[in-house]
Parts: sequence; structure tokens; C-alpha cells
Amino acid sequence: MDLELSEEQAAVRQVAREFVDREIVPNAGRWDREGSIDLAVVRQLGKLGFLGLTIDEVDGGSGGDHLAYCLVTEELGRGDSAVRGVLSVSLGLVAKSIAAWGSEQQRQEWLPRLCAGEALGCFGLTEPGTGSDAANLATRARRDGGDWVIDGAKTFITNGTWADVVLLFARSGDEPGHRGISAFLVPADTPGLERREIHGKLGLRGQATAELALDGVRVPDSARLGPEGKGFKVAMSALAKGRMSVAAGCVGIAQACLEAAVGYAGRREQFGGPIARHQLVQELLSDIAVDVSAARLLTWQVADHVDRGLPFATESSVAKLFASEAAVRAANNALQVFGGYGYVDEFPVGKLLRDARVMTLYEGTSQIHKLLIGRALTGVAAF
Ligand code: FAD
Repeated sequence: MDLELSEEQAAVRQVAREFVDREIVPNAGRWDREGSIDLAVVRQLGKLGFLGLTIDEVDGGSGGDHLAYCLVTEELGRGDSAVRGVLSVSLGLVAKSIAAWGSEQQRQEWLPRLCAGEALGCFGLTEPGTGSDAANLATRARRDGGDWVIDGAKTFITNGTWADVVLLFARSGDEPGHRGISAFLVPADTPGLERREIHGKLGLRGQATAELALDGVRVPDSARLGPEGKGFKVAMSALAKGRMSVAAGCVGIAQACLEAAVGYAGRREQFGGPIARHQLVQELLSDIAVDVSAARLLTWQVADHVDRGLPFATESSVAKLFASEAAVRAANNALQVFGGYGYVDEFPVGKLLRDARVMTLYEGTSQIHKLLIGRALTGVAAF
């Protein structure tokens, strides 16, 4: 693996860095307090080509490799995880799934708009009764002539109230577990689909997270994504790559923690000088720095495997597990450096900790990733 960025990758990162510093960092605290990012920023991500990264230009994407995708995702995570999540879901989980599994008609219908930021996607897997145990989902799709009629409920759906299309997973056959599931592209304005925002989140307050209720939602068979009964495979292939972008976002959180904590340690004076000269403060800073570097390298390793066509699912679990736990540690350490000032929202580290906390929960909890890694090591599934 070559750790030196190509000219193109370095240029993409520079554009992302400047955009984040100009358009996102100055607004992130306000968006968090107001409970919503400004969706104009999503259109800007589309104009910059970021929402089309890794998608072929013939499909409306901007091309690029997965390392460039990670670099952009890291920068967005450094600026505001609420913005980063919009891209990770709309591009990472939805557009990439359409690119990988979609028919010509599905690709033409959705990809140019998703890549331009003119439409957003959401990923409807989790249900009130099934989170980690997603293969047991209960939402039901039954055939009716040439259509499918879908009934059920989804919860915790990122972009849920903003999305134009839901990549929805439903049980379409009688086989139990993962075998009976199919994936559907459901336009969000389809009659019978209701969306309700979930309020009171610990973090990611600028991001829309929603419950979806499906009551007789009718879609044609042409809305099915991938073969009938292979929906779980569609979901798992999306998440294997999706976890790479969560990991990259976590590197961004940890990097933001590092920059904030180093800056503050140089400015804040106690005992007659900057707190940076106290060894125990330096320990906090160096712990954050080690976490940033290790998480970044693990994330780049996944991107490298994807781009070279090597197996990457276990590497993706390793990177997501480590980077998400590292982001929480980094934010906690940064808050410690800020002392009592870290506890009030005039300073950024409290938000970074609140936003980091969900990273060990979604796209597979830390426990589930340990089981996935354990299964890869032993060949024995513990779940
Ligand atoms: P549970 O599965 O009930 O787990 C509870 C606890 O039990 C966890 O600690 C878990 O690790 C542990 N546990 C469960 N099973 C085992 C086991 N076999 N061995 C050991 N420990 C176990 N979902 C979507 O489909 N789309 C989205 O866009 C989306 N966005 C989200 C955004 C936010 C802000 C949040 C909070 C969640 C989002 N989710 C989304 C849902 C998320 O993926 C789930 O919350 C996650 O998969 C965990 O499921 P759960 O919350 O039901 O927890």
C-alpha cells in the first residue's frame, strides 16, 4: 500500500478541507443548537462532486477512488458529523448500492440526481424490533399482480424526513432469516409511507433521523433492487463499504479533537504557564494523536483493499470498530484538556463527544463487529 497521496487525491482533500473550514466549521455549533443543518450545504457537496465520488461518470458521478472518498469523508467528519452522515448514507449506502445492483432504468432514474445533491437517499433496514439482528426484520412485501405492497415500520433512519428515495428492506418470501428479504427503491412520496422525525438525540442533532411507517405502500416490480430474496446481500454489501466511511468520519472527529485540544492547551494558563507544559496534559494530547494516526491508517487500508479488488469486509469491521471507539476516547480526552470549559457548548469538544458516541452504535455496534472479526478468525459464528 502506497501511503503517499496522488496529486488528484491531495487536490480533492484540499478542496474538501477549504470547503469544510469555510462553510461548515463556522456553522456547525449553530446547526447543532437549532436542530438542523442548512440543506443548502448538501447541494454544495453535490456541485463539488463529493456526492458522486466513486460513481462512474456515465451514471452522473464524479469517479475517483475510495481513498479520495475517505479523505473527503474525514474532512466532513472534522467539520460536522451531521453533514458527514448525509453523504455517508445518500452516497455511501444508497447511490453506491444502486450503482452496484441497479438496472439501467434504476441507475438513470436516481443516480444523476443523487450525485448532484438534487435528491437524497435513506437506508431503511433497522426496525423497532430488530437492530443488530437485522436478518429477522418483519416488514413484509407481498406480490399483488405486477406490484409489491409493503407494510411495516422502520426506525432510526438517517435522512429519513429529507430523503427522496428509501432503499427499503422487506421480507418478500416465507424463508426465515436473511433468505427471505428483498430490497426496494421506494420514492418517499409514495402513498402509505409516513415519516416522523425522532427528537431528543444525544448528538447528531443537526441531522434528520426518522421513523418510517408503511401502510399498503405499492411499488412496481421494477422498484426491486437486485434479485428477489437477495436483499440482505444488498444490505450487507452496502454496509461493508459504508463502515469505511463511518470510520473515516471518526478519524475526522478525532482530528478535530486533536486540533482543538492542542490549541487550547497552548492558550490556557494554570500554575504560571500554559497547561501544555504539564506532562499529564501532554499524555492526553499524545493519546489522541496516536488514535488519530492508527484510525486513519486502518481506514486507508480498507480503501486500498476496495480499490485493488481485495477482500475488505473484515478490514472494514476492524477499522470501524477501532475508529469509532477511538473517536469517543479522543473526544473524552479533549474534553478533559478543556477542563470545565469543555462542558459548555461555547467550545466545540462537548458536541464532538456527543456526536462521536453514536459511532460505536450504528452500522453495527462494537460488540457486533467483535463477533464479525471473531467469526473471520475462527470460522465460528457466535450469533
Ligand atoms: P440492539 O441490537 O438492541 O443492541 C443493544 C445492545 O445489545 C448493544 O450493546 C448490542 O451490541 C448488544 N447486542 C445485541 N446483539 C448482541 C450479540 N449477539 N452479542 C453481543 N451483544 C449484542 N439504521 C438504519 O437502518 N438506517 C439508518 O440510516 C440508521 N441510522 C441511525 C442513526 C442513529 C442516530 C442511530 C442511533 C441509529 C441508526 N440506525 C440506522 C440504527 C442502528 O444501526 C441500530 O441502532 C444498531 O444496529 C443497533 O441496533 P439497536 O439499537 O436495536 O440495538
